[in-house]
Amino acid sequence: MIPKVLGNSWWRVRDGNVSFWRDHWLKSRALINSCDISDYPLLKVRECGLQNGWDVDLLHRLVGATKMEEILNCLGEQKEGGDLLIWKPTLNKVFSSKSAWDCVRVRAPKSEWATWIWHSALLKKYSVTIWKALHYSLTVDSRISSLGIPLASRCECCTQGCMEDQDHVLVYGMIAADIWRWVSLQLGMSYDSQRSWRATMELWFRRATHSTQKGTLLALIPIIVTWSLWVWSYKARMEGKHVAVSSLWGSIKAAIAWDVWVHGALLDEKGNLIWAFAKELGYGSNNEAELIALCYGLQYCQDLNIGRVEIELDLLLVVHWLQKGRCGIWYLEDYWKKIQVMVATLEVKIQHIYREGNAGADFLA
Ligand SMILES: [Zn+2]
Repeated sequence: MIPKVLGNSWWRVRDGNVSFWRDHWLKSRALINSCDISDYPLLKVRECGLQNGWDVDLLHRLVGATKMEEILNCLGEQKEGGDLLIWKPTLNKVFSSKSAWDCVRVRAPKSEWATWIWHSALLKKYSVTIWKALHYSLTVDSRISSLGIPLASRCECCTQGCMEDQDHVLVYGMIAADIWRWVSLQLGMSYDSQRSWRATMELWFRRATHSTQKGTLLALIPIIVTWSLWVWSYKARMEGKHVAVSSLWGSIKAAIAWDVWVHGALLDEKGNLIWAFAKELGYGSNNEAELIALCYGLQYCQDLNIGRVEIELDLLLVVHWLQKGRCGIWYLEDYWKKIQVMVATLEVKIQHIYREGNAGADFLA
């Protein structure tokens, strides 16, 4: 590396305490690269000076006429003070190990997926899982047998028990196919049961964009889905827990909401993520979104065996709906019915609160 380090360094000569032959102080390379050292191998630049000017005869004898001219031009700009060693790769001319590393590293071509896989809104566990899948290094049966370890493979997701490979776990298996079909439907993406995991991700990433909330979700959602499916099969295999598709879908939605909320990357102007997500699922107004959020919220309470719930909603209209037991929007009937059932089984108190009053709860959530 020393030639590289020297090649990227340059001396700005002031008092001339640098090697005439070996240091890189001319604009071109060090003199040792273009001239033979005829005499004075340890000569310093300042030793070429006479009382008022440069020892032209000496320079001429050492390097010849052309080089001498270059040297005189360079030394003509000389200022007072100590010599300055300049590191050329950085703008401030100060050496840093980062810039040195950039000089010597071999850059791999950037993965087109990288900006999404390592998106700041994602938990690292998602990123790492996707990265492993991208390199076919998730520990599935087919991977183990490809390493020469014989085993009888039987997936955890299908009743008939299929050979477990990465695509089966992540897209082709019964659970995976159900989830992908559903999530594609929800976000208006095309679904094809024959599409491989890699092709599926590419399809979503192609539609994704950093400029809009929905565009970003189109990249983050398949990542979270992939991670969830991987965890599903892992838990089924290692812990014998076969979570139902509906709960898996619920937890995927919660993961999306949680992830995006915690990292603050996709909050809408009211700072509410579930609204944003519900809106992305095709619901227009805040009233509708809040009703859906309420439905999820009550579901969580039920899942956590919380029996007494106090709900503070900041949308008056929804509070009226709940108090009167009548929902104003026909296409929310499904959610409405679910809420009615849950409200009947839980001890629920509902009241209106101003948005500012909900800030603390929002933060905790
Ligand atoms: Zn299966």
